Amino acid sequence: MSYPTQPTASHFIDGKYVEDTDGGRIPVVYPATGEVIATVYSATPAIIDMALNSAKRAQVQWAKMTGTERGRVLRRAAEIMRERNHDLSVLETYDTGKPYQETSVVDATSSAEALEYFGGLAGSLTGEHIQLGEDFVYTVREALGVCVGIGAWNYPTQIAGWKGAPALACGNAMVFKPSETTPLCALKVAEILHEAGAPAGVYNVIQGLGDVGAALVTDDRVDKVSLTGSVPTGRKVYAAAAAGIKHVTMELGGKSPILIFDDADLENAVSGAILGNFYSTGQVCSNGTRVYVQKGIKDAFVKRLCERLNDAIIGDPMDPDTSFGPMVSERQMKIVLDYIQIGQDEGATLAYGGKRLEQDGFYLQPTVFTDVTDDMRIAREEIFGPVLSVLEFENEAEAIARANDTEFGLAAGVFTADLTRGHRVAAAFEAGTCYINTYNLAPVEAPFGGSKASGVGRENSKNAINHYSQMKSVYVAMGDVEAPF
Ligand code: NDP
Repeated sequence: MSYPTQPTASHFIDGKYVEDTDGGRIPVVYPATGEVIATVYSATPAIIDMALNSAKRAQVQWAKMTGTERGRVLRRAAEIMRERNHDLSVLETYDTGKPYQETSVVDATSSAEALEYFGGLAGSLTGEHIQLGEDFVYTVREALGVCVGIGAWNYPTQIAGWKGAPALACGNAMVFKPSETTPLCALKVAEILHEAGAPAGVYNVIQGLGDVGAALVTDDRVDKVSLTGSVPTGRKVYAAAAAGIKHVTMELGGKSPILIFDDADLENAVSGAILGNFYSTGQVCSNGTRVYVQKGIKDAFVKRLCERLNDAIIGDPMDPDTSFGPMVSERQMKIVLDYIQIGQDEGATLAYGGKRLEQDGFYLQPTVFTDVTDDMRIAREEIFGPVLSVLEFENEAEAIARANDTEFGLAAGVFTADLTRGHRVAAAFEAGTCYINTYNLAPVEAPFGGSKASGVGRENSKNAINHYSQMKSVYVAMGDVEAPF
């Protein structure tokens, strides 16, 4: 079978596709079948150099344009992206294996929203005037320069847009490196931005593994690094960026809690747990994989959860009825299968799923463990797959303490009918992105990101502007200069 997935070339630099087959070969595998559907080549030092030089040159011109002009380009790109939503969603499904039912409403859509939102903000980015008697200071919001974006494999179109849109709105240029597991979608984002009028070099995409990311992060031409990835990679990238005193945004992993109290609406709580564990086959950084359920509702919750999982339609991700696709790669599937074994060895009860499906592709069943205790590895480590752990609790104080007892702090959720308890628990959560009576929504208008080991900085919202710009203050004296001698 042939697939419409082979890109024109591996890299998009200075407004055009560029190839260099001297780089390491990266086969792109369709997770639903295991077939190779495209090939790209890792960036050589010459390609890295070309991309950074192009970004450096283009950024100067881009920053000279008015914010309104830059915003117009971003909003036009958002329109093109929406017009091509079907094709982009199909490509996202080939790249990641996520069902078309999801990709058609989440991926290009959310990238377009970021372009539209930051395109709208671009014209209103200003400094301020500070009067000091007769003297005064004015501040100027300036671009940082060249930003490097490094993406994870779970949301390749979205991550390319979430990083690119605020960076470009502020007058920066970007060199984006997608995960080598999903190299296809970011190229389309670059193509569309260029078509929408972004000057050549303002948004470049180069392929490669961690070594290419590392070469970008340590380069003197780079002013800011924004990574979406795991905590171990985050530690390395943060340290490398620190050596060059570069700005950073770190969107890292999590092991987030969802607290379900006895008084919660059962169906809503089950829906939240499903969204927070099985959407995108569980490959979502903010997933609430530690589901703490109060004693009185626990049995009913587990029963209803397992009933609802029977309704998941697992199969061909291109079929619009399919609601649960394969894991992104054989490697990730094996990591998750190992954790499922570890959970059983640790004494947790396998209440649902737990097996690989006997068919082509990297399909696992949605999996639920009960009788999980806080010290088990399946309750402490990020699995990044469709594995939900149910833990029982008795009272609010205990549940909060246990929920916060983790190095991570990306997200947290609470389900309760008690309004004051909902807010009290959200206030007590040590997490950057919290939910009351819902889970895993990430609208562009709201800040998204983690505390503790889950990250530094925020994506989305007006807050992201602070992470892609810096303030210059200019002191203006209206009188003579007084010097001591
Ligand atoms: P990884 O941390 O393995 O990789 C992330 C990116 O960093 C990849 O592009 C990778 O390249 C690159 N990379 C690896 N080593 C280095 C290095 N030394 N220097 C520079 N770049 C490097 O994450 P995954 O791709 O496996 O994604 C899953 C992880 O991402 C999970 O932990 C998940 O929680 C997190 N995530 C966080 C999100 C958030 O917003 N907080 C959202 C989505 C995912 P390559 O893989 O090509 O070698």
